[in-house]
Amino acid sequence: MEIIDSHCHLDDFFHEGKIEEVLTNAAHALVTKMVAVGTQPKDWEFYAEFVRNHGHISYTVGLHPLVAENEKELDQLPIFLEKEIKPVAIGEIGLDYHRLPKEQQAKDEIIEFQKLIFAKQLELAKANDLPVVIHSRQAFDDTFNILIDSGIVGSKILFHCYGYGVSEMEKLKSFGAFVSFAGTLTFRKEQVEPLKVANLDKLLVETDCPYLTPEPHRPKRNEPAFIRDTARFAAKMLDMSENYFCNLTYKNTEKFFALK
Ligand SMILES: [Zn+2]
Repeated sequence: MEIIDSHCHLDDFFHEGKIEEVLTNAAHALVTKMVAVGTQPKDWEFYAEFVRNHGHISYTVGLHPLVAENEKELDQLPIFLEKEIKPVAIGEIGLDYHRLPKEQQAKDEIIEFQKLIFAKQLELAKANDLPVVIHSRQAFDDTFNILIDSGIVGSKILFHCYGYGVSEMEKLKSFGAFVSFAGTLTFRKEQVEPLKVANLDKLLVETDCPYLTPEPHRPKRNEPAFIRDTARFAAKMLDMSENYFCNLTYKNTEKFFALK
């Protein structure tokens, strides 16, 4: 019963000397493929090197809305699209309005900046025919509108760590976008209903480790092996066997990222 972790961050484990242990745990849990997701130039650099010796791990490059410091950082993105081992998507990119400053002008500036770097990266993805991994928090309408404007088709869009409601899920479903659920599903009851209405052909699962540890591992740090617990929980909520859920999400993940 193999499974893919469609969204993880591995750089911290590496820098702390724990990567071998974490990858061994993942192998024991039959996490046979992983997508390591970029957030800023230093992890793009790291992943591009790291995947050379780890054939079962793919990577993405993208400037995260909360990590981005300036527009200039985007200049380095196209370099990675020329690498021998290319990123499988642009991401994670998007909008995050969760902790905006109260003061209006400061708030507007941050929103404008996030929108600008988001739109620029979508343009790059479109020009290179790459799928996009979307980080969107408390900003559904803006995210959705910018995506529509980008002209990118729904089947090339993945909303990672799904945290919106049923009506947003319906919108994404009609748009043909993919969605991925993380460990929060195991302890946030409000995520169960959206999961139940998700298009099963567009459904993925992820850890987003080292964050968002699923039950029963909280408050430990999350790692790819723990995707098992989220998969088990999701399968139960969807009234399907764990085996069926793993196969389904495996195929969907391979399809979305065009993994080999
Ligand atoms: Zn992430």
